[in-house]
Amino acid sequence: MPSPADMRQVAVLGATGSIGASALDVIARHPDRLRASVLAAGSKVDALLALCAVHRPDHAVVADPDAFPRLRDGLRAAGLATRAHAGTEALEALAAGPECDTVVAAIVGAAGLGSTLAAARAGKRLLLANKESLVLAGELVMAAARGAGAQIVPIDSEHSAVFQCLHACRAGDVRRIVLTASGGPFRGWDRAHLAQVTPAQAVAHPKWSMGPKISVDSATLMNKGLEVIEAHHLFGLPDERIGVLVHPQSLVHALVEYVDGSTLAQLGLPDMRTALAVGLGWPERIDSGVSGLDLLTQGRLDFEAPDTDAFPCLTLARAAMDAGGTAPAVLNAANEEAVSAFLQGRIGFLAIPELVEDALAALPAAPAGSLEALLAADADARRFTRQQIARLCPGTAPA
Ligand code: NAD
Ligand code: MG
Repeated sequence: MPSPADMRQVAVLGATGSIGASALDVIARHPDRLRASVLAAGSKVDALLALCAVHRPDHAVVADPDAFPRLRDGLRAAGLATRAHAGTEALEALAAGPECDTVVAAIVGAAGLGSTLAAARAGKRLLLANKESLVLAGELVMAAARGAGAQIVPIDSEHSAVFQCLHACRAGDVRRIVLTASGGPFRGWDRAHLAQVTPAQAVAHPKWSMGPKISVDSATLMNKGLEVIEAHHLFGLPDERIGVLVHPQSLVHALVEYVDGSTLAQLGLPDMRTALAVGLGWPERIDSGVSGLDLLTQGRLDFEAPDTDAFPCLTLARAAMDAGGTAPAVLNAANEEAVSAFLQGRIGFLAIPELVEDALAALPAAPAGSLEALLAADADARRFTRQQIARLCPGTAPA
């Protein structure tokens, strides 16, 4: 049994989200070895206060500075000793500071980059769910982690699967990896039907319960595109050695093919607590609350090729990865803006890939040696895409 000195002090960034809830569920199962010492959210103060009452962290932080008084007063009124903080500087300082040794990076979108980088530079164990930070600045995040000795444990289910299958293998042993994709709620649909889908249909994922942005990304297959780029950075493999297979049951999460022809796969129920337990316990295995897989009751395992005509985002992401430089940052930013406009009912579903394609064409890849260059590309792509959206739907304003 670990002594109190071995307790993992975990910062859960994005605590009020879907991954945050799964992380806190696993942490609460292991009071002898895991503790949520820092909880962070974007702007949902009431939800953050409720989590503080249960998990009693040392620190709570909201990204929105205007929300600080409500957080501070709410903690005080609840009689909690948790200290209140606000703003991205405070968030990054807590991710990098002595208040935690482990960081669950579960903020959605490019907004997670600063805290992901801060944790990597500070040498933390980094449980990385925020795939957008790798798409936007993969080289920088990986170099920062290497330089500071930060251990990155991927939390995306497919990348956790690859991570688990790669255990104890040597560089050069792997021929290729294959990420599986559920195909999302519109698998098998043609473009005419896709043109009509609503945000409510798009976020109703058949297999996974997730936040709205990643749910739409799953419906467009952009999620798999982002994951190919994520895998490229995490595992150092080129485009042609990262395959994608649609697997509607979402029980096989990824496969690793070795040079000897052997393929290892990781299977499990679609519940993110497994990947989080892997990250929190590694190299030990700890209870996640997820049941084992009963293949007899599950029945069939089906596989098919992705339909890149109906869902061009996967091809766009691969093209951005191959172009390199600022292109993945442009892809990610245009996609975030397009998904946000779709969720607000301002544009149709098929406009998402069109807007991403337009941004990639209008803002050709440039070298991206610095964080500043990447953030400038991100800002340019957001500006460009917002203008395109305003042109597509004059008279509607962002919410
Ligand atoms: P979510 O929308 O449920 O939660 C997002 C969290 O980020 C919330 O706590 C929110 O308060 C916080 N946040 C938003 N903007 C912020 C900002 N500017 N500053 C600080 N905090 C901010 O999203 P989710 O589904 O939990 O996904 C989180 C990340 O994990 C995403 O990058 C997603 O791609 C990745 N991921 C999620 C799943 C899943 O099953 N949900 C699976 C794999 C990867
Ligand atoms: Mg995934």
